This record gives sequence, structure tokens and C-alpha cells, in this order.
Amino acid sequence: MKSDDSTEKSLLEKDHAYTWHHISAYNEKSPPMIWESAKGAWVTDHEGNRYLDGMSGLWSVNVGYGREEIAQAAYDQMKKLAYVPMTQSHKPAIELAEKINELLDDEYKIFYSNSGSDANEVAFKLARQYHQQNGDPSRYKFISRYRAYHGSSMGALAATGQALRKYKYEPLAPGFLHVAPPDNYRRPEGMTVEDYNRHCAEEIEQKIIWEQLETIAAVIMEPLITGGGILIPHRIYVEKVQEICKRHGVLLIIDEVICGFGRTGKAFGHQHFGIKPDIVTMAKGLTSAYLPLSVTAIRKEIYDRFDTGDDNSHFRHVNTFGGNPAACAVALKNLEIMDEEDLFDRATELGDRLLKELKCLEDHPFVGDVRGFGFLLGIELVADKEKKEPVLNGYMTKIMAECKGNGLLVGRNGDTVAGFNNVLTLCPPLSCTDEDLDFIIAVIKKVINGNTTFSQ
Ligand code: PLP
Repeated sequence: MKSDDSTEKSLLEKDHAYTWHHISAYNEKSPPMIWESAKGAWVTDHEGNRYLDGMSGLWSVNVGYGREEIAQAAYDQMKKLAYVPMTQSHKPAIELAEKINELLDDEYKIFYSNSGSDANEVAFKLARQYHQQNGDPSRYKFISRYRAYHGSSMGALAATGQALRKYKYEPLAPGFLHVAPPDNYRRPEGMTVEDYNRHCAEEIEQKIIWEQLETIAAVIMEPLITGGGILIPHRIYVEKVQEICKRHGVLLIIDEVICGFGRTGKAFGHQHFGIKPDIVTMAKGLTSAYLPLSVTAIRKEIYDRFDTGDDNSHFRHVNTFGGNPAACAVALKNLEIMDEEDLFDRATELGDRLLKELKCLEDHPFVGDVRGFGFLLGIELVADKEKKEPVLNGYMTKIMAECKGNGLLVGRNGDTVAGFNNVLTLCPPLSCTDEDLDFIIAVIKKVINGNTTFSQ
């Protein structure tokens, strides 16, 4: 299977010469993998090495790789009608909007864009315009949480609470404020999880009051913080944040870019907490990343403020590629596969087993906490269990490299959260077989149990 040396060398050399990789610096000792093909949960690189993709690409390939029906749906749609500007409409966009309404189990208007960042930018603009047209023009600020990631554009990055991604590009969009999210593992000693989560939600209310409530447009949050280290709130927190928002006329934007489309065992992560967001943003799992597509869903009652018959009340936002017909056809086929294969329930089944099997790692000297929600898992590594001091970069890098050496690609909470880059993350395709899951569990146990004495 190995390609001849000259091809291999020239591909890597060309890669280094011409392509600029996202977020990571080029590292000669550990050059980027050149992916060649993929099927199910497994990817093959250009040398024929196979790896189980424990991160579904970037938390996105929910139905797994190599789905011919999805490729066929894109092909058929491109042949029939390749493009429509979304100032007009087309059948796949309409059917997809109807399907998303069904999954949200309420009446929402669906606005299409291309990425999670775009979807959040749309949410911010919609929220500001809504307040202007609702007689509250001074409401322009957004409250978000530290450790959360909401995207790479100037507004979405301003909402992001990860300093290392931001500080070299500041000043970003003004009007974004942050509070601490609940981090149950690190809650103050002696405080119950319930009291702590109530307290964290109250911090949002304090922020609203200190900032003058007439200036606050919306709160944006993920149902649980994913990329920032798998921080799972207690139900009390999410319910209370919604109640605070309602009481103060603040919109609640829920970012379902990772948590949506089965990842947590339901269509959307927020459905575990019984809340009804005003705006929901989604991307990644919507097409399982086969093509770019994102959605900002806005509650019908809020949309009504944009549909008043007044010439000046519409939403002046357009993008060229959003709602591309092939991308919508791909999304519909992707959601059909999820239905047919019952992948939401499968996510719960896989995630429950993964958490149960790996919980015992908490006996390991460097494993502080193993936590999971749906088919998402975080393993928080600490150098000192008493002080909960995070392990340093070297330990994380070694663990990740050894997982890769054993054929498993795992993630971590970026190199982005100042001081807390110590959570190993897993977000495998929902289509994993039982054997795939056994493989993930075996590699993680082997690697972590083999690293009990690493000196930092
Ligand atoms: N929101 C969340 C929660 C994300 O994890 C991401 C990307 O990882 C985004 C928004 C931004 O999505 P995109 O990379 O498609 O712009």
C-alpha cells in the first residue's frame, strides 16, 4: 500500500510549500497527515495507514464517511439545478426548513448560510435589529461565556471566550461580554453542584444588571461547552439562564453547531433541558460536513417583527452560497440516514458505554475527571489531583501522539484556552460499530495507563 518515496516526499513538500494549515504551526517532526480516503469511522492516509477518526473530522462527520447516497444526492441536484440565490427559493431549501422545524418541534424561520461562524453572525445581527424594531434600540450587547468557541469571524470571535484565539486580532467587534461557565469539576469546595450552577446562572443576571439591562440584546451559549473542554451544566443552570433572559427581555441564542443533529442523543442539545431558545444556530452535523451549510433558526414571534409590511423592517443580509441546492439536498439525505439508522438513540447507547468503560480511568494519577454527554467525552488531565493543576502541553502532546501511533485520532480543547488545554476529547461518528467503540476504549486505556510516570 505504501506509495513510492518520491511521490510521498513531493506531496509533503508541496503541502509545506503551498498550503497554510488551519490553527496549527507546521511541525517537521510531526507533519500533517495527508488524508486519502475514508469509510465509516476510518480514514486512510496517503501511505495507506488507517486511523479511527475519534473526532469526526472537526466534530462534524456525524453519519461517518463514504456515504454513497449522499454523494448521489449532491450529484443529482447539481445536474438538475446547481445554484439559486436565496433571495428566491428552491425545493430542497424548503423541504429542509420544514424538516428542521420538525426537529426543533416548534415554529422557526430558517435562514441559510455557509458556516457556524456565519450562522452566529446572522444571529447577532438579527438580535440587534429585532430590538431596534421592538422599541428597544439601546439593546446591543451580547453575553457569552469564557471557554466557549463561537467562530472565527470578528463578531463570532468576539463572542468566543478563549483568549489565545483572540488576543492577536483585537480589537474585535465591540459589545461582547463574558462570564464564567459552570465547571463542575472545579466548583468551590463544599458547594453542591446545584448551588454552584444556580450561582453561575445568577452571574449572568448580575452582568445584565451591572451593564444596565436596557443595553443587553442576547445571551449566546452552547447547551454544553464542547471545544472549550466538555463542560456539562446541571439542568438548573440552563433552565435558570432561560428564565433570567425571559424576565429581562434578553434573547437566548443557543449555538448547536456541535451539539446539534444527534451528537447528544437528541436532535438538539438544548432539548435535554426543556428550554425553547429564541434563536438556534447549527452547522457541522447538518450535512455531516459533506458540503458547507449552516442555519440560523429564529422563532416565528421574533421573525414577525421583520415581516410588518413596513418597507424598512426586512433583514438586510445576504450571502452568495448559503442555501446552495446541493448542500440542502445533502443535508436532507444526511438527516434521512440519521432517521433510518436511528442514530440519535445510537449516540446515547455509544456514549453511555464509552463513559462507563472509561470512568475507571479516574483512578489513574493524572486523570482528574472523565465526563460525557451523548457521544461526547472529555478526559481532564491534571498533574496534581489535590490542586487540580492542569498537565502541561508536553503530556497532552505525548498522549495524543501515542493514540495516533495506535491508530486513533483524538482531540483536545484546542491550544486555545489560556491555562486549561488539558482536556482530551472524543467525538466519534454516530455510525461507529460496536467493534469501533471497543477499539477506541482499548487504545485510550492502553495509552493513558501506559503513562503514569511521565515527568513534566
Ligand atoms: N460554534 C461552535 C460551537 C463551534 O464549535 C464552531 C466551530 O468549531 C463554530 C461555532 C464555528 O463554525 P465554523 O468553523 O463552521 O465557522
